[in-house]
Amino acid sequence: MKVLSAEFLRTSTHRGQWPPEKLPEFAFVGRSNVGKSSMLNALTRRDKLARVSATPGRTQALQFFEVSVKPSPTVKAVRLRFCDLPGYGWAQVSKADRERWGEMIEEYIRDREQLLAVVLIVDARHPPQPSDRDALEFVTSLGRRAVVAATKMDKLTRNQRLSAGKQIERDLGLTAGEVVPFSAMEGTGTDALWSRLLAFARE
Ligand code: GDP
Repeated sequence: MKVLSAEFLRTSTHRGQWPPEKLPEFAFVGRSNVGKSSMLNALTRRDKLARVSATPGRTQALQFFEVSVKPSPTVKAVRLRFCDLPGYGWAQVSKADRERWGEMIEEYIRDREQLLAVVLIVDARHPPQPSDRDALEFVTSLGRRAVVAATKMDKLTRNQRLSAGKQIERDLGLTAGEVVPFSAMEGTGTDALWSRLLAFARE
């Protein structure tokens, strides 16, 4: 897996700003501070890709990235898009802000034609929070596929890693092996996550 290019494309606060081109697209969502930016950087092998967009008001906007990858030397390059969705579970935000979050994200997840799957990021160190469950249900109720990735695995011992994955699968009602163990710090899980995403793009 070689990342040929990865660039920040644009910020969007309404649908008129969604990039029009029909490239395979994947959205990333998770609780604020779960490690979403770090995951995007690890996947694209760029140190600061997701930070480039760290502008005020970022939490209320969608961030689009364009990525070009070469899965193997014999396979031709694939262009695709990532959409970084605002984090949820932020205690300080007002009810009005939460509602705006919900509306903007619901519209995107429901209507975005080229969206192939939503990556839901959870913290491997803790059981899924109620907001994680809500997010998963939200995504699937809108008819979208979710890929659950458990990040910060490096904080766990080898034994804990196995049981953490199983626990998350049980709690979220997933099948065994469905959760992708991830660590942006170690770089683990990037190949596994890429192969899930590329399988959707090939369909
Ligand atoms: P975001 O708010 O979800 O985009 O989260 P960030 O990517 O900014 O990460 C939040 C904090 O978690 C930062 O201090 C990161 O250094 C840390 N972090 C992110 N991913 C990992 C990881 O895989 N392992 C460890 N140990 N820390 C991580």
